[in-house]
Amino acid sequence: MYSKIIILNFPAEVTQKAIVCQLTKKYDLLFNILRAQISNKKEGYMVMQISSESKAAFNKGVKFLKDQGVSISSPEHQIYKNEEICTHCGACTAVCPTDALYIKRPEMEVIFDKEKCSVCELCIVTCPTRAMGLFSEETQALV
Ligand code: SF4
Ligand code: SF4
Repeated sequence: MYSKIIILNFPAEVTQKAIVCQLTKKYDLLFNILRAQISNKKEGYMVMQISSESKAAFNKGVKFLKDQGVSISSPEHQIYKNEEICTHCGACTAVCPTDALYIKRPEMEVIFDKEKCSVCELCIVTCPTRAMGLFSEETQALV
């Protein structure tokens, strides 16, 4: 199973078209909308996790989106978990909307699954030890 989080930017002329549902109908892709702001006839964006049988199937779906006028990008920043200062208190798991942070039992260890992260940054403001932070893809450094 291949899975990736991407950002879709919709120009005003395509926001009223039923494009995203075609990913499942035509390309057999599964998607999970993590964040969205879409208004009829206005520019909008959507952060979504797309899962597919293979990377090739994922690429076909992305090509379809681009052909429809949707521009695609990856999150500029990634979330970073500093394992050395995480106390596994579990506070971040209560606010994480995508279950990217979860408690592994019976070890009671807090695990970060980067593939599920929507980069909402809620864990950063919640973590008492500042173990969660932002990492720039461009500079490959903490920001
Ligand atoms: S809130 Fe911070 S210290 Fe607590 S489990 Fe999450 S990352 Fe670790
Ligand atoms: S930024 Fe933090 S809270 Fe938001 S989805 Fe990613 S891990 Fe979860």
